[in-house]
Amino acid sequence: MAGDRAYEMLWDCGYCGARKLLGKSQKFCPQCGAPQDAQTRYFPDEQDKVEVLGHRYQGADKICPACQAPSGAKAEFCGRCGSPLGDAPEARRLQDQVRAEDAKFAESLSLRRLEAEQRKHPSVVESVAAIPKRRGYLWATMALGIVALVVGLLFWTRQETVVVSGHYWRQAIQIERYGPVAESAWCDSMPFAAYGVARHSEIRSYQQIPDGQDCQVRRVDRGDGTFTEHQECRPQYRSEPVYGERCDYRIDRWSWSREASAEGHDLAPRWPQTGLAGARPCLGCEREGGRESRFEVLLRGQGREYRCGLAQEAWHGMRDGSRWTLKVGAVDKQPRCDSLKPVD
Ligand SMILES: [Zn+2]
Ligand SMILES: [Zn+2]
Repeated sequence: MAGDRAYEMLWDCGYCGARKLLGKSQKFCPQCGAPQDAQTRYFPDEQDKVEVLGHRYQGADKICPACQAPSGAKAEFCGRCGSPLGDAPEARRLQDQVRAEDAKFAESLSLRRLEAEQRKHPSVVESVAAIPKRRGYLWATMALGIVALVVGLLFWTRQETVVVSGHYWRQAIQIERYGPVAESAWCDSMPFAAYGVARHSEIRSYQQIPDGQDCQVRRVDRGDGTFTEHQECRPQYRSEPVYGERCDYRIDRWSWSREASAEGHDLAPRWPQTGLAGARPCLGCEREGGRESRFEVLLRGQGREYRCGLAQEAWHGMRDGSRWTLKVGAVDKQPRCDSLKPVD
């Protein structure tokens, strides 16, 4: 990123043990002359940070396939052994280092040391990850088994021969009444016909108010022995309630008031008397608000009675005393009414 300041990655000499050598400026160990191993680079502690001035970034180093020495991105031949770098791989980079704004960076591990640590403790890492996983698998299998069992039991039915022992019907009419109803609305959308209004304040929505920023500092390994450091900030918000005026009021409307119903065990279903009070919209007037019917046959099986709700035509056609087969749940003992078939 333009404007980010660049700093030296550090590396340690693997031959003489010299520490904190500069990744960009020291491609060879100043003590023993050994070439830099790009995989020993690491991010420095805050106080070991050395700024790189006047350096133009050209890309990650190329790693010589013959001697592993790093050379600049634009080099065509290895600076150490002269091998051509045509399709040489790039230097591998460390993961970004990130800290909170008020924290300090500590020295990181190099790739070589990270991988050595992982080789030293692979069994620990693996077993820690593996045990909960295997247990999770076990639980999932058991849960699945239980679900399958429950579903299986619900679908498990036995067939019975049943005799029609009677009929039942019920028909109902919902009745609405015109009169005062208590309602509540935002005062700016209250109906004109409202009366008996009481106003109060209530939270209507929430507003997002900018509330500073949340910042962190990120270090990015550029793969050429340098890294950049920059600040990343995200705006923070807090939510604040916005109050509105709420109105509780009464208004005259049609609303459900009662149900008129009729029922019987014969084959001639009737609608109930409604006895509506008044017809025009007046206070206390009533009107119909929907009709419902239910038709059931009563069935006698072996030591058990069942009821099946049916369409009116099918219900009317099932003679008393006729014989039918019916599937019944083996566990829940509920009839599967759509399985009804006549016995010839
Ligand atoms: Zn050395
Ligand atoms: Zn080389």
